Amino acid sequence: MVLASPEQGVDLSDYDSMILQLRSEGPSDAPWRIYLRNYDPAYSRLEDPVSHKVNAILFDSTQYPGRVEVPLTLFTPTTWWLTDYQIPLMQQGRDLSRVFAIELATGSNALPGHYRLKLEELTFQGPWLSPSLFYRALFMVWSITIIMLLLMDYAGMRRRLQKASHNAHLAMLRNQNLEQEYRMAADQVRHDPLTGALSRSEGEALLAQHSGEMIVIFIDIDHFKQINDGYGHPVGDEVIKCLVSELLLHLGQEVSLCRWGGEEFVLLVPERPLSWGETLAEHLRKVLAEGRGWPQDLRVSASFGVAARRRQEPLPQTLARADDALYQAKRDGRNRVVVAH
Ligand code: GH3
Ligand code: MG
Ligand code: MG
Repeated sequence: MVLASPEQGVDLSDYDSMILQLRSEGPSDAPWRIYLRNYDPAYSRLEDPVSHKVNAILFDSTQYPGRVEVPLTLFTPTTWWLTDYQIPLMQQGRDLSRVFAIELATGSNALPGHYRLKLEELTFQGPWLSPSLFYRALFMVWSITIIMLLLMDYAGMRRRLQKASHNAHLAMLRNQNLEQEYRMAADQVRHDPLTGALSRSEGEALLAQHSGEMIVIFIDIDHFKQINDGYGHPVGDEVIKCLVSELLLHLGQEVSLCRWGGEEFVLLVPERPLSWGETLAEHLRKVLAEGRGWPQDLRVSASFGVAARRRQEPLPQTLARADDALYQAKRDGRNRVVVAH
């Protein structure tokens, strides 16, 4: 029974057993010889059909009338073949790696005559996977599982890192917003929102910080109520804003302008003599009174009270003297400068 060409053969080395059902009738019950012929260039020569390895068993079909499972390990190379071909020791073992034919032959004790042989089944049985393939597959499954676990871990770590950096970015943006809001709030505290002049609290802080000489000039718009009453509050607002821009045009960097309340302002001039403050106040009074750019073509004037901080004088006292001087200016008819001596 030819399975393939000798060079091609069929690898039966991973099969465990052969299922066999064989019936024979004849002059004697001598056992049959079953050969699995194996090709190997080490000993096979194509021109000599006997040179292929003869893996053999002796099979007595009378002992096994039915189906029988024959382990393939029972097949062994015949001694006549080993002897005839002087097979070296290391090639004398069973070899089923390139079986190309299954042969049946009568044993040497068989009587001559007519034999009838019926092969009802011949099946090779083996594991679903060969052990080497099984271990290779197992190794691959393990490797793939480990790689997948590592990849999942890596992906999870990447996700966590991305989330953390996103949160850090959000926190940074929130901090920037808070800082900006804080700066805007601080700026609002420092400045009067209507005019942009320094706030009263900022002016008081400046006075508290400065321990040296300081000239304080109080400025109050004359008859401002009449402007509000006659032209409306928004025009009053415009007049206040106009007054601030006009004053700022004529003030140097060293002079601080604070809105003290309503239509009342205070100038703080550090390290200057009282006469300098008086000249400045007089100059500003003139600028305002002669100004032609007031809203609604109004004529606007202001009164000034000037005081210099005396040595060791508490601040409230200086402010009170400047305020008194301002009220004196109002009493004296407004649109004038009064200096507290
Ligand atoms: P005097 O010459 O004596 O200073 O008289 P006056 O009318 O200027 O002074 P008075 O204190 O009687 O009135 C000030 C008015 O200023 C009263 C108040 O309603 C108004 N005022 C205070 N703050 C503002 C403001 O921000 N905008 C406007 N439009 N009016 C204000
Ligand atoms: Mg006024
Ligand atoms: Mg006033």
